[in-house]
Amino acid sequence: MKLRFPLKEFQQMETPFYYYDMSLLDATIKAIKKEIKDLPYEVHYAVKANGNPTILKAIAAHGLGVDLVSGGEIAAALEAGFKPSGMVYSGVGKTDREIIQGLEAGIYSFNVESIPELMVINQLAQERGLVAPVSIRVNPDIDAHTHRYITTGTAEDKFGINIEMLAAAVQTANSLPAIHLRGLHFHVGSQITQMKPFAMLCESVNTLLDYFDRHDISFEIINVGGGLGIDYDMPDVNRIPDFQHFFDTFRRNLKLREGQELHFELGRSIVAQCGSLIARVVYVKENRNKKFVILDAGMTDLIRPALYEAHHVIQNLTSQDTASDTYDVVGPICESSDVFGKDERLPVSHRGDIFALRSAGAYGESMASQYNMRRLPGTYFDE
Ligand SMILES: *Cc1c(COP(=O)(O)O)cnc(C)c1O
Repeated sequence: MKLRFPLKEFQQMETPFYYYDMSLLDATIKAIKKEIKDLPYEVHYAVKANGNPTILKAIAAHGLGVDLVSGGEIAAALEAGFKPSGMVYSGVGKTDREIIQGLEAGIYSFNVESIPELMVINQLAQERGLVAPVSIRVNPDIDAHTHRYITTGTAEDKFGINIEMLAAAVQTANSLPAIHLRGLHFHVGSQITQMKPFAMLCESVNTLLDYFDRHDISFEIINVGGGLGIDYDMPDVNRIPDFQHFFDTFRRNLKLREGQELHFELGRSIVAQCGSLIARVVYVKENRNKKFVILDAGMTDLIRPALYEAHHVIQNLTSQDTASDTYDVVGPICESSDVFGKDERLPVSHRGDIFALRSAGAYGESMASQYNMRRLPGTYFDE
């Protein structure tokens, strides 16, 4: 099914802006809820993928929880109507102010990434006569250990706590008066399209749960984070990620204990396909061997191509030309990495044509900057 953009409206609008297909967002969340409805699973939307207030409100209305990474996100999630009882808060560098914000909001769990952080949370909670619910984030390197791969630099890894230090961290957490240890937290990475890493994560979790069983330590929850990828090459074919396969992987491989809940933190897979960056062609220019389409959107609006060499499908929405040509599609920013696509086959393009950069709903608007003193991109919500 091809996305039908409201071109008449687009013609009236200033570019660049983010177009959001709110019915696709709805359908995506419904697909998730359908898969987990009979399971002890909770999904927290990772706000850093897209923190636009309208998007947040739409997701909150479905009753999902949230995964937060800053005090700003805590405030935005509360404002959008998410319940504190569904909030988890990750991040290696939570400041005192942010921790206090989380404590006062009454969030469900702090995903704690180090022993020093655990001590600070304990102290700040104790000073306020509160008990802080926490989960300990285990470094995903745990996979490598389980499978005896050679690992490098784990001691310097930024995220989570190494497996060697986990037992001590759990013991510390359970001994601190103002800490309530809810469970263990993991996050293996992002844009993962194969189920293998998730299956390996399940194995690691099983091994750890067996270990803690032997030491009479149990957990209310296991949080396996996010990372489910989307199809950037065929956004119209695979509009909704294969959530069935994803949740099935955990259902089949992870041995949850009696009464235990499994939590997820999905960002990209919820919002990526519902968003497109819409831009106008400012100039078409020709050098000796190359033609360039220069858009009024650049890396300040969508940084993924410049930052990760990511590629988004590029469409000329308005060209009436039946002939096509090959172009490099670039932005106006004074950086040579400000390129959206090289040797793109497109209908012959002209100044004023409207372009769409697809699958831009995640890590697009939320990463926009004002570099070159540019305005932030606008928004258009298609209900
Ligand atoms: C970014 C992040 C997520 C979301 O990742 P996606 O790849 O967008 O699903 C989940 N959990 C944590 C801890 C994260 O940092």
